[in-house]
Amino acid sequence: MTVIIDGKAVSKRIKDELKELVANKKAQGKTACLAVIQVGNDPASSVYVNNKKKACEYIGIGSKSYELKEETSQEELLSLIDSLNEDDDVSGILVQLPLPGHINEDTVIRRISPKKDVDGFHPMSVGALSIGEDGFVSCTPQGVIELLKRYDIEISGKECVVVGRSNIVGKPMAMLLLRENGTVTLCHSKTRDLKAVCKRADILVVAVGKPKLIDHEYVKEGAVVIDVGIHRMENGKLCGDVDYEDVYDLCSAITPVPGGVGPMTIAMLMKNCCKNL
Ligand code: NDP
Repeated sequence: MTVIIDGKAVSKRIKDELKELVANKKAQGKTACLAVIQVGNDPASSVYVNNKKKACEYIGIGSKSYELKEETSQEELLSLIDSLNEDDDVSGILVQLPLPGHINEDTVIRRISPKKDVDGFHPMSVGALSIGEDGFVSCTPQGVIELLKRYDIEISGKECVVVGRSNIVGKPMAMLLLRENGTVTLCHSKTRDLKAVCKRADILVVAVGKPKLIDHEYVKEGAVVIDVGIHRMENGKLCGDVDYEDVYDLCSAITPVPGGVGPMTIAMLMKNCCKNL
Protein backbone atom coordinates (compact mmCIF):
# COMPACT_ATOMS: atom_id res chain seq x y z
CA MET A 1 0.00 0.00 0.00
CA THR A 2 1.30 3.45 -0.89
CA VAL A 3 1.86 5.84 2.02
CA ILE A 4 0.72 9.39 1.30
CA ILE A 5 3.18 11.69 3.03
CA ASP A 6 1.10 14.35 4.76
CA GLY A 7 3.20 17.52 4.76
CA LYS A 8 0.33 19.60 6.08
CA ALA A 9 0.03 17.50 9.24
CA VAL A 10 3.81 17.35 9.78
CA SER A 11 4.12 21.10 9.25
CA LYS A 12 1.40 21.72 11.85
CA ARG A 13 3.17 19.40 14.32
CA ILE A 14 6.48 21.21 13.83
CA LYS A 15 4.85 24.61 14.29
CA ASP A 16 3.27 23.37 17.53
CA GLU A 17 6.64 22.08 18.75
CA LEU A 18 8.22 25.44 17.92
CA LYS A 19 5.40 27.27 19.69
CA GLU A 20 6.25 25.37 22.86
CA LEU A 21 9.98 26.03 22.43
CA VAL A 22 9.40 29.75 21.88
CA ALA A 23 7.19 29.97 25.00
CA ASN A 24 9.88 28.22 27.08
CA LYS A 25 12.59 30.51 25.76
CA LYS A 26 10.43 33.56 26.36
CA ALA A 27 10.20 32.54 30.02
CA GLN A 28 14.03 32.69 30.04
CA GLY A 29 13.92 36.16 28.46
CA LYS A 30 14.96 34.98 24.98
CA THR A 31 12.95 36.04 21.93
CA ALA A 32 13.12 35.70 18.16
CA CYS A 33 12.04 38.24 15.57
CA LEU A 34 11.82 37.92 11.78
CA ALA A 35 12.14 40.98 9.55
CA VAL A 36 10.33 40.48 6.24
CA ILE A 37 11.03 42.84 3.36
CA GLN A 38 8.84 42.99 0.27
CA VAL A 39 9.61 45.32 -2.63
CA GLY A 40 6.60 46.11 -4.84
CA ASN A 41 3.21 44.47 -4.49
CA ASP A 42 3.29 41.32 -6.59
CA PRO A 43 0.11 39.50 -5.45
CA ALA A 44 1.78 36.08 -5.14
CA SER A 45 4.59 37.58 -3.03
CA SER A 46 2.04 39.34 -0.82
CA VAL A 47 0.34 35.98 -0.14
CA TYR A 48 3.69 34.37 0.80
CA VAL A 49 4.67 37.30 3.03
CA ASN A 50 1.31 37.23 4.80
CA ASN A 51 1.58 33.48 5.39
CA LYS A 52 5.04 33.99 6.92
CA LYS A 53 3.75 36.74 9.21
CA LYS A 54 0.81 34.56 10.27
CA ALA A 55 3.13 31.64 11.03
CA CYS A 56 5.32 33.92 13.19
CA GLU A 57 2.25 35.09 15.06
CA TYR A 58 1.04 31.50 15.63
CA ILE A 59 4.40 30.40 17.01
CA GLY A 60 5.04 33.53 19.06
CA ILE A 61 7.92 34.88 17.01
CA GLY A 62 7.96 38.64 16.58
CA SER A 63 7.78 39.98 13.05
CA LYS A 64 8.66 43.30 11.49
CA SER A 65 7.28 44.01 8.09
CA TYR A 66 8.79 46.36 5.50
CA GLU A 67 6.62 46.96 2.45
CA LEU A 68 8.74 49.00 0.07
CA LYS A 69 7.58 50.69 -3.12
CA GLU A 70 8.37 49.03 -6.48
CA GLU A 71 10.64 52.02 -7.34
CA THR A 72 12.79 51.55 -4.21
CA SER A 73 16.45 51.77 -5.26
CA GLN A 74 18.91 48.98 -4.62
CA GLU A 75 20.88 51.33 -2.35
CA GLU A 76 17.81 52.04 -0.21
CA LEU A 77 17.12 48.31 0.13
CA LEU A 78 20.75 47.56 1.00
CA SER A 79 20.80 50.29 3.60
CA LEU A 80 17.64 48.84 5.24
CA ILE A 81 19.34 45.42 5.32
CA ASP A 82 22.44 47.01 6.89
CA SER A 83 20.34 48.51 9.68
CA LEU A 84 18.53 45.19 10.29
CA ASN A 85 21.87 43.37 10.37
CA GLU A 86 22.88 45.71 13.20
CA ASP A 87 19.55 45.50 15.05
CA ASP A 88 19.92 43.13 18.02
CA ASP A 89 16.14 42.70 18.24
CA VAL A 90 16.07 41.11 14.77
CA SER A 91 17.20 37.49 14.61
CA GLY A 92 16.25 36.72 11.01
CA ILE A 93 16.00 38.72 7.78
CA LEU A 94 14.01 37.60 4.77
CA VAL A 95 13.78 39.46 1.47
CA GLN A 96 10.86 38.12 -0.53
CA LEU A 97 11.93 37.12 -4.04
CA PRO A 98 11.61 37.86 -6.90
CA LEU A 99 12.77 41.47 -6.69
CA PRO A 100 11.98 44.09 -9.34
CA GLY A 101 14.32 43.95 -12.36
CA HIS A 102 16.41 47.00 -11.38
CA ILE A 103 17.60 45.29 -8.17
CA ASN A 104 20.30 42.63 -8.30
CA GLU A 105 19.12 39.64 -6.24
CA ASP A 106 22.62 38.25 -5.70
CA THR A 107 23.85 41.56 -4.28
CA VAL A 108 20.88 41.68 -1.92
CA ILE A 109 21.26 38.05 -0.77
CA ARG A 110 24.97 38.62 -0.07
CA ARG A 111 24.22 41.73 2.01
CA ILE A 112 22.15 39.82 4.61
CA SER A 113 24.34 38.78 7.51
CA PRO A 114 24.93 34.99 7.40
CA LYS A 115 23.97 35.08 11.10
CA LYS A 116 20.44 36.20 10.11
CA ASP A 117 20.13 34.42 6.75
CA VAL A 118 16.99 32.39 7.58
CA ASP A 119 16.40 31.58 3.89
CA GLY A 120 19.85 29.95 3.72
CA PHE A 121 20.63 31.57 0.36
CA HIS A 122 23.85 33.42 1.34
CA PRO A 123 27.00 31.88 -0.20
CA MET A 124 28.39 31.46 3.35
CA SER A 125 25.33 29.38 4.31
CA VAL A 126 25.60 27.34 1.11
CA GLY A 127 29.33 26.83 1.71
CA ALA A 128 28.74 25.75 5.32
CA LEU A 129 26.25 23.14 4.13
CA SER A 130 28.65 21.78 1.54
CA ILE A 131 31.52 21.32 4.02
CA GLY A 132 29.28 20.01 6.81
CA GLU A 133 29.49 23.08 9.05
CA ASP A 134 26.63 24.56 11.00
CA GLY A 135 24.60 27.24 9.21
CA PHE A 136 21.17 28.10 7.88
CA VAL A 137 19.84 25.57 5.37
CA SER A 138 17.46 26.41 2.52
CA CYS A 139 13.92 25.73 3.75
CA THR A 140 12.36 23.57 1.02
CA PRO A 141 15.07 20.88 0.85
CA GLN A 142 15.34 20.94 4.64
CA GLY A 143 11.60 20.29 4.71
CA VAL A 144 12.03 17.25 2.46
CA ILE A 145 14.59 15.73 4.85
CA GLU A 146 12.30 16.43 7.79
CA LEU A 147 9.42 14.65 6.02
CA LEU A 148 11.57 11.61 5.25
CA LYS A 149 12.77 11.43 8.86
CA ARG A 150 9.34 11.86 10.39
CA TYR A 151 8.04 9.05 8.19
CA ASP A 152 11.00 6.86 9.26
CA ILE A 153 12.24 6.59 5.69
CA GLU A 154 15.88 5.51 5.82
CA ILE A 155 18.20 7.65 3.68
CA SER A 156 21.56 6.14 4.61
CA GLY A 157 22.94 3.94 1.85
CA LYS A 158 19.94 4.54 -0.41
CA GLU A 159 20.10 5.50 -4.10
CA CYS A 160 18.84 9.08 -4.05
CA VAL A 161 18.16 10.85 -7.34
CA VAL A 162 17.41 14.57 -7.38
CA VAL A 163 16.01 16.04 -10.60
CA GLY A 164 16.76 19.78 -10.84
CA ARG A 165 19.91 21.64 -9.77
CA SER A 166 18.67 25.09 -8.75
CA ASN A 167 20.56 26.88 -5.99
CA ILE A 168 17.51 26.99 -3.74
CA VAL A 169 16.19 23.45 -4.15
CA GLY A 170 18.14 20.90 -6.20
CA LYS A 171 21.72 21.59 -5.10
CA PRO A 172 21.06 21.93 -1.35
CA MET A 173 18.76 18.89 -1.61
CA ALA A 174 21.63 16.83 -3.00
CA MET A 175 23.98 18.09 -0.26
CA LEU A 176 21.46 17.26 2.48
CA LEU A 177 20.84 13.75 1.17
CA LEU A 178 24.60 13.26 1.00
CA ARG A 179 24.92 14.49 4.59
CA GLU A 180 22.40 11.78 5.52
CA ASN A 181 24.66 9.23 3.79
CA GLY A 182 22.52 8.73 0.71
CA THR A 183 24.24 7.85 -2.58
CA VAL A 184 23.25 10.88 -4.56
CA THR A 185 22.82 11.56 -8.27
CA LEU A 186 21.92 15.11 -9.30
CA CYS A 187 20.14 15.40 -12.66
CA HIS A 188 19.39 18.42 -14.85
CA SER A 189 18.28 19.33 -18.35
CA LYS A 190 21.46 17.91 -19.92
CA THR A 191 21.26 14.54 -18.15
CA ARG A 192 21.32 11.69 -20.67
CA ASP A 193 18.59 9.07 -20.32
CA LEU A 194 16.85 10.70 -17.37
CA LYS A 195 14.31 7.87 -17.23
CA ALA A 196 16.99 5.22 -16.63
CA VAL A 197 18.72 7.34 -13.97
CA CYS A 198 15.45 8.05 -12.14
CA LYS A 199 14.45 4.40 -12.32
CA ARG A 200 17.50 3.54 -10.18
CA ALA A 201 16.23 5.70 -7.33
CA ASP A 202 15.08 4.39 -3.97
CA ILE A 203 14.29 8.02 -3.15
CA LEU A 204 13.40 10.27 -6.09
CA VAL A 205 13.15 14.03 -5.42
CA VAL A 206 11.77 16.07 -8.30
CA ALA A 207 12.21 19.84 -8.60
CA VAL A 208 12.17 20.61 -12.32
CA GLY A 209 9.35 23.10 -12.64
CA LYS A 210 7.66 21.06 -15.42
CA PRO A 211 4.09 19.89 -14.70
CA LYS A 212 3.75 16.08 -14.52
CA LEU A 213 7.10 15.45 -16.23
CA ILE A 214 7.73 12.33 -14.15
CA ASP A 215 5.44 9.40 -14.95
CA HIS A 216 5.60 5.64 -14.30
CA GLU A 217 8.44 5.21 -16.79
CA TYR A 218 10.75 7.10 -14.38
CA VAL A 219 9.83 5.33 -11.17
CA LYS A 220 11.10 2.05 -9.75
CA GLU A 221 8.63 -0.19 -7.93
CA GLY A 222 8.75 0.61 -4.21
CA ALA A 223 10.45 4.00 -4.64
CA VAL A 224 9.74 6.97 -2.39
CA VAL A 225 8.74 9.92 -4.60
CA ILE A 226 9.02 13.48 -3.33
CA ASP A 227 7.44 16.12 -5.56
CA VAL A 228 8.69 19.67 -4.95
CA GLY A 229 7.02 21.16 -8.02
CA ILE A 230 3.89 23.25 -7.83
CA HIS A 231 1.83 24.44 -10.79
CA ARG A 232 -1.65 25.79 -11.32
CA MET A 233 -3.42 23.98 -14.15
CA GLU A 234 -5.96 25.51 -16.52
CA ASN A 235 -8.81 24.05 -14.46
CA GLY A 236 -7.51 25.99 -11.44
CA LYS A 237 -6.26 22.88 -9.60
CA LEU A 238 -2.67 22.46 -8.45
CA CYS A 239 -0.33 19.75 -9.70
CA GLY A 240 3.33 18.89 -9.22
CA ASP A 241 6.27 17.89 -11.38
CA VAL A 242 5.16 14.27 -10.92
CA ASP A 243 2.13 12.67 -12.55
CA TYR A 244 0.70 11.59 -9.18
CA GLU A 245 -2.06 9.26 -10.42
CA ASP A 246 0.24 7.60 -12.92
CA VAL A 247 3.02 6.72 -10.42
CA TYR A 248 0.94 6.25 -7.25
CA ASP A 249 0.63 2.44 -7.38
CA LEU A 250 4.36 2.01 -8.01
CA CYS A 251 5.54 4.03 -5.00
CA SER A 252 6.02 2.90 -1.43
CA ALA A 253 5.42 6.53 -0.38
CA ILE A 254 4.64 9.78 -2.21
CA THR A 255 4.02 13.45 -1.43
CA PRO A 256 0.81 14.90 -2.86
CA VAL A 257 0.50 18.38 -4.40
CA PRO A 258 -0.86 20.33 -2.64
CA GLY A 259 -0.25 19.20 0.96
CA GLY A 260 3.15 17.53 0.56
CA VAL A 261 6.40 19.50 0.41
CA GLY A 262 4.72 22.92 0.13
CA PRO A 263 3.62 23.36 3.78
CA MET A 264 7.05 22.21 4.98
CA THR A 265 8.85 25.22 3.52
CA ILE A 266 7.21 27.66 5.92
CA ALA A 267 7.64 25.27 8.88
CA MET A 268 11.38 25.11 8.15
CA LEU A 269 11.54 28.89 7.84
CA MET A 270 10.06 29.10 11.33
CA LYS A 271 12.54 26.48 12.54
CA ASN A 272 15.38 28.59 11.10
CA CYS A 273 13.99 31.65 12.88
CA CYS A 274 14.22 29.74 16.19
CA LYS A 275 17.67 28.29 15.45
CA ASN A 276 19.65 30.68 17.62
CA LEU A 277 17.17 30.98 20.47
P1 NDP B 1 14.37 26.16 -11.49
O1 NDP B 1 13.62 26.51 -12.72
O2 NDP B 1 15.27 27.16 -10.86
O3 NDP B 1 15.25 24.84 -11.79
C1 NDP B 1 14.73 23.78 -12.53
C2 NDP B 1 15.80 22.71 -12.67
O4 NDP B 1 15.23 21.63 -13.37
C3 NDP B 1 17.04 23.15 -13.43
O5 NDP B 1 18.18 22.68 -12.80
C4 NDP B 1 16.85 22.50 -14.81
O6 NDP B 1 18.07 22.08 -15.41
C5 NDP B 1 16.06 21.26 -14.45
N1 NDP B 1 15.23 20.82 -15.56
C6 NDP B 1 14.32 21.55 -16.27
N2 NDP B 1 13.74 20.77 -17.21
C7 NDP B 1 14.30 19.56 -17.10
C8 NDP B 1 14.12 18.33 -17.80
N3 NDP B 1 13.25 18.21 -18.80
N4 NDP B 1 14.87 17.27 -17.41
C9 NDP B 1 15.74 17.35 -16.40
N5 NDP B 1 15.95 18.49 -15.69
C10 NDP B 1 15.25 19.57 -16.05
O7 NDP B 1 13.28 25.64 -10.46
P2 NDP B 1 13.26 25.59 -8.84
O8 NDP B 1 14.26 24.64 -8.33
O9 NDP B 1 13.21 26.96 -8.30
O10 NDP B 1 11.80 24.99 -8.64
C11 NDP B 1 11.43 23.71 -9.12
C12 NDP B 1 9.95 23.48 -8.84
O11 NDP B 1 9.76 23.49 -7.44
C13 NDP B 1 9.02 24.54 -9.40
O12 NDP B 1 7.81 23.92 -9.79
C14 NDP B 1 8.76 25.46 -8.21
O13 NDP B 1 7.50 26.11 -8.30
C15 NDP B 1 8.78 24.46 -7.09
N6 NDP B 1 9.15 25.03 -5.79
C16 NDP B 1 8.36 24.71 -4.73
C17 NDP B 1 8.67 25.16 -3.48
C18 NDP B 1 7.81 24.75 -2.33
O14 NDP B 1 7.83 25.38 -1.30
N7 NDP B 1 7.08 23.65 -2.47
C19 NDP B 1 9.81 26.05 -3.23
C20 NDP B 1 10.63 26.27 -4.40
C21 NDP B 1 10.29 25.78 -5.63
P3 NDP B 1 19.24 23.11 -15.91
O15 NDP B 1 19.94 23.55 -14.67
O16 NDP B 1 20.09 22.27 -16.79
O17 NDP B 1 18.53 24.22 -16.61
